[in-house]
Amino acid sequence: MRRLSFFPTPYPDECFYSIFSRYYVRSGIISPKTATEIFFGCDRSLLPSTVYFPRKLERLGYWVSPDSGITGKKLICEHTAYPYHSISHIKDVYQQMENVIRDGIPEGGIASLVHRMISKSKYVFAGQYLRYCPECAMEDMGKYGEAYWHRLPQLPGVRVCPKHGCRIQNSSSPFEEMRVRIYPASYVLRNMDNETEGQGLLYKEEYLSIAKETEWLLGNGRRFGGHQPISSKYRELMREQGYTDFHGTAINKEALRHDFVKRYDEEFITELLPYDGDPLYWLRYLQESIGFNLRPIHHILLMRFFAGSVESFLNIEVKKELPYGNGPWPCTNKLCSHYRKDGARRVEICKKWDEVWAWFECPYCGMRYRRSDPEQSFEEYLKKPCISDRGFLFEQRLKECLSDPELSLNEVADLLGVGASTIGQYAKKSGIDVKKRRKASYYSRDADNNEDKTAYYRRRVQEELQKMPVMSCKDLKERIPGAYEWLICKEPEWIHARLIHEFDKPKWNEWGEAALVELKAAYAEIQSSGDKRKRMNISWLARVAGINRDDIYGRLRYLPEMQEFFDEVCETQEEWIRRRYTEIAYEKKKAGGKEFTYGDVKRKVQIRRGSYERNRKLIETLIAELNDKLFMSNEQGTDLCNHRKR
Ligand SMILES: [Zn+2]
Ligand SMILES: [Zn+2]
Repeated sequence: MRRLSFFPTPYPDECFYSIFSRYYVRSGIISPKTATEIFFGCDRSLLPSTVYFPRKLERLGYWVSPDSGITGKKLICEHTAYPYHSISHIKDVYQQMENVIRDGIPEGGIASLVHRMISKSKYVFAGQYLRYCPECAMEDMGKYGEAYWHRLPQLPGVRVCPKHGCRIQNSSSPFEEMRVRIYPASYVLRNMDNETEGQGLLYKEEYLSIAKETEWLLGNGRRFGGHQPISSKYRELMREQGYTDFHGTAINKEALRHDFVKRYDEEFITELLPYDGDPLYWLRYLQESIGFNLRPIHHILLMRFFAGSVESFLNIEVKKELPYGNGPWPCTNKLCSHYRKDGARRVEICKKWDEVWAWFECPYCGMRYRRSDPEQSFEEYLKKPCISDRGFLFEQRLKECLSDPELSLNEVADLLGVGASTIGQYAKKSGIDVKKRRKASYYSRDADNNEDKTAYYRRRVQEELQKMPVMSCKDLKERIPGAYEWLICKEPEWIHARLIHEFDKPKWNEWGEAALVELKAAYAEIQSSGDKRKRMNISWLARVAGINRDDIYGRLRYLPEMQEFFDEVCETQEEWIRRRYTEIAYEKKKAGGKEFTYGDVKRKVQIRRGSYERNRKLIETLIAELNDKLFMSNEQGTDLCNHRKR
């Protein structure tokens, strides 16, 4: 590969223009035009921009060999002003430059990217000279045998050398002439004229600070990530320091300017930023969140104003204190596990008249609600919440509830913690006819039952647990519709303590097989020696078999064989009444009785009052039937005899 005869080894903080001008000196080429053409491959019009910007870096492979240690990254970061400028670049430019720094210079170069940076920096070269610190130049000559142009003194606002504290001097090399001549520092600074050194500088400390911050940015500016993170930090800090409200609207339009001028003397600002109009015109870019219009020098002033220094600004953590506090916010959905706890995030906040409205949304259930008074406590708000959207969890549960004919509309409303009208509206929207769904477990209870719903369901669950001590949520839903949904809202701990998970149900087969053998033996024993007047039921069989009755009730649904056995041998109350009445009627007939009455069975077949009421029709029919068959005619009622199974 054809390569440049030599490439000067860059010195610390040397700007790119200086490297080229040293090449020019040492190459022995007399014509600036020829030197520029050989080095950059183009005419001299680009030369002023090489003071600040990376130009023609696609020629890197022509300038240096790959093992020279001189890379695109090194040239951009150490020999151009990019790190300093990067704090005012938009994300796109910043990101592209960072990619170039990371991945190397693309073959096609980065001309268009560099042009965006140049137009952005708004340098006006008219009346501007290459600048230098005399002390630094002396040191460089001592150390390297020649002077060179540093990056730092060329940057806006740098009027004092941060290292030596002396004033930065204008050289006799105007930018305007750079398109024609080449100004190597070793020639220009041969006879340094330090006449102006004696002149006092009114705001020397401020200038020293600005020079130090500029120097720091040349080394660290890239860490900010472009202007956007900086601008949003300004917004947060203005909010935190009370210049704007939560929404970025100025509380007192003049306050920031007032404090800014108090911090930096107005004379200093005017001197630092010579401008025909208001030297602080750019402060409004801050308030209007158009930070890309701010130049690095503005950022330096602002960062020092807000955080003391550029570095502390980078490291400062802004607490975002907004109306309604910091998230996560509680969920307002009773059905959601995040109810009244957390889960919700703020999705929007805005000012409505003199109120601050904020919308919150819980991603776990989809509930979206709006608050309008930051002073109101959440508990107070919950009494009358403003729900924008009940969310997917609510809709899902509502559909489930509405598809269960056991649940009344009011019950569904209670379960979901909303008014019946809300349910009605939703049902209408979904095309569900709610009037047909009147029948409900709680509302269809006995008319004289005044229990409240929680007490009612608790009692019913207790009753059910008597029959089935091991019950899962699924079992309960089947046995007492609505009870689980109600109690899980009202008495979650109580109901959880009483149910087991469906998967936790033990496998009862082994136990069931052994128990069934015992129960069959018990049945045989009762048949041979038991009181046959008694009703054959599970309790009696269990007692004789020595098995806990509740164990049987709880596990029976998983033991089909045992269920089959009970179905075969146990009597229902109706069967038992029928058998006993018939037996007694025969006894009376045998004893010569003329009529069969309720009085004959009242003491012999004792049944509870409730059972009597329930079986009243059966009892009356049965008595009439037996009278007909045994006493009114001579026919023997053999068909009613030995009704008992087996
Ligand atoms: Zn110096
Ligand atoms: Zn939720």
